[in-house]
Amino acid sequence: AKSGGRNTFFFYNANMQVLADQHLSMEKALHSAIDNNELYLNYQPQVNQTHHITGAEVLVRWKNPEHGFVPPDQFIPLAEETGKILSIGAWILHEACSQLAQWEKAKLCPKGFRLAINISPKQFEQTDFISQLINVISSTNVNPYHLELELTEGILVKNLDALTTKMDAIRQMGIALSIDDFGTGYSSLKYLKKMPISQLKIDKSFIADLLTDTNDQAITGTIIAMAHHMQMEIIAEGVEDIPTVEKLTSMGCTHFQGYYFSRPVSAEDCTLLLQQEILP
Ligand code: C2E
Ligand code: CA
Ligand code: CA
Ligand code: CA
Repeated sequence: AKSGGRNTFFFYNANMQVLADQHLSMEKALHSAIDNNELYLNYQPQVNQTHHITGAEVLVRWKNPEHGFVPPDQFIPLAEETGKILSIGAWILHEACSQLAQWEKAKLCPKGFRLAINISPKQFEQTDFISQLINVISSTNVNPYHLELELTEGILVKNLDALTTKMDAIRQMGIALSIDDFGTGYSSLKYLKKMPISQLKIDKSFIADLLTDTNDQAITGTIIAMAHHMQMEIIAEGVEDIPTVEKLTSMGCTHFQGYYFSRPVSAEDCTLLLQQEILP
């Protein structure tokens, strides 16, 4: 038993080493990803009940010669750990606004259109975040009323006064604020109502089995009722089929995003969708 334990320990240790090496080599690669032009953006349209495009979410992609395509679920947490998220986040903000400026110039943004950009907690917490926003808006010349920031609930747990001040400043610029993955975090509902939040986004984990899972129906129904009550907009993500669209509509959900309407696509393909104005 003793030697077995020892072997197990040795094996585990070696395995850990492999993982640590992989982690380190990916971290190194990520460090020069911007300079090597390995990052690019995809866009996933959002629609209303008549399937007209009302916005799009910006989703970052990383393709590295050694590691191949690394999904954001893997490299964003790594970038958060190392602090690299600050330069990556700034790059995304600038790249997304440059694209938005082109769509504005081509008159492809319908009335009320919002381009939604995911903002990591660390990125949002930077003391100069507001001035970064001001700078990117003036250098790309975009309409701030065409922008929306997606924040996660994690942001709502600390330093409430500073947070509200920052959110108010952003809203005053015309930018909308959306709470992403709503229902999966630990945000205090008491705080939520004090925040200048425009929209709640129901996480796709509640939408995947919505048609059959009565718990998911109860949670989704509660989130929708809450959003209406607080006069916030509501959008469901991860919508993959029309019965789910119909179910959500019957529950009072007004906006949708998911594979049923469109996968995340390149800027060029998103331009075509914007020209089309309406999705299936
Ligand atoms: P998220 O913000 O919740 O993004 C939604 C994810 O759901 C995206 O995965 C999207 O491709 C996927 N999705 C969209 N429609 C459907 C559907 O109908 N069914 C299913 N099963 N999935 C759908 P993606 O692009 O892999 O991004 C994963 C996560 O990585 C994002 O989750 C977000 O947390 C993070 N992320 C992605 N891009 C950025 C970014 O630019 N900045 C930051 N900070 N985080 C990002
Ligand atoms: Ca919206
Ligand atoms: Ca998001
Ligand atoms: Ca989500």
